[in-house]
Amino acid sequence: MPKHQLFRLFTRLGFFLLYLLIPVFDLFRFNLDTHKFIFMRKTIALGIDEFRLQQISAFEMLWNFFEIIFFPVMAIIAIGAFITWRWGLLYCGWLCPHESVVEIINHLMRRASGKFTLWDRKILPQKQLDGTHIKPHKRWWLLTAVVIFLLAFVWAISILSYLQDPKEVYSNLIHASFTSGQLIFLLIATSLFMLEFTFARHLFCRFGCSLGLFQSLVWMLNKKAMVVGFDRSRAKQCKGCDLSCEIACPIQLKPRSIKRKMYSCSQCMRCIDACSSVQKQHIVQSDAIQNMQKTGGMGMPLLQMIEGECALDKSARDFGKKRPPPENCYSIEKAD
Ligand code: SF4
Ligand code: SF4
Repeated sequence: MPKHQLFRLFTRLGFFLLYLLIPVFDLFRFNLDTHKFIFMRKTIALGIDEFRLQQISAFEMLWNFFEIIFFPVMAIIAIGAFITWRWGLLYCGWLCPHESVVEIINHLMRRASGKFTLWDRKILPQKQLDGTHIKPHKRWWLLTAVVIFLLAFVWAISILSYLQDPKEVYSNLIHASFTSGQLIFLLIATSLFMLEFTFARHLFCRFGCSLGLFQSLVWMLNKKAMVVGFDRSRAKQCKGCDLSCEIACPIQLKPRSIKRKMYSCSQCMRCIDACSSVQKQHIVQSDAIQNMQKTGGMGMPLLQMIEGECALDKSARDFGKKRPPPENCYSIEKAD
């Protein structure tokens, strides 16, 4: 596994742990019973009751709202928007627990059926040029179903811990003694998550996540933002390739296409790693090696992260417009 993918694994695991522990340590949650926010171990009240009792004015209550909710939320949105504008949907690829779920279930479904989703018509190749070798077998379905259920249940119970006292929620889990309200919530939420994870996880990433759509919009506004670029000058080297880069993409994008068609790209770099493996491991193929010798770039991936002027080739190329990239946008080792 490349070092950056190992790092990515740690950032996603760390973020998921943080997500689970935030309510447990009273860092941020909303108590449905008292209708109050808890932030950094303090109960936050907007002063609605005090206003009703005429102990504070409407202006004081409004100022509480701005001070406690509006300004901090706007600051977080501004920082997030700047990161996205400059480097793309890093949150999705490097932190988001949903994308982790997508990748885990993709992998298991492929082992069980040879396809990433129940809807795909084409069975994926058992051996790929990037070195992937997966022989599907039906026995993986049981593990796939168990993992989908466990992930859905963990998600449901973690949401409940943001809405009720987490100590009570986890204590009830340990003693298997949920209240009827908790049981109904868990049954409905777990079922919905199971349906989404099984049938619509890619659709959710591409069209259903409001956070993802907001980031996509901000990212698309900056034509020079970091993006997965395709070195068209060496496009001949794709001849004979089994499209390992497309198969590697967890959200089923085509990494060689223009930015508009990749608006939900999460910068996970899996397509780049796949192409890198194709180039390094399979240069023995006569076709490929001839193409490489003609075009240079022996062993270097055709897909690479680019930004600035180089990114215009990807983001400004649309509806017949072409913008050849400046020289040296892609690192290339020339063949001897
Ligand atoms: S970009 Fe790389 S992995 Fe994708 S089709 Fe071309 S050679 Fe294959
Ligand atoms: S296109 Fe590449 S970087 Fe973008 S989501 Fe797909 S695999 Fe990840």
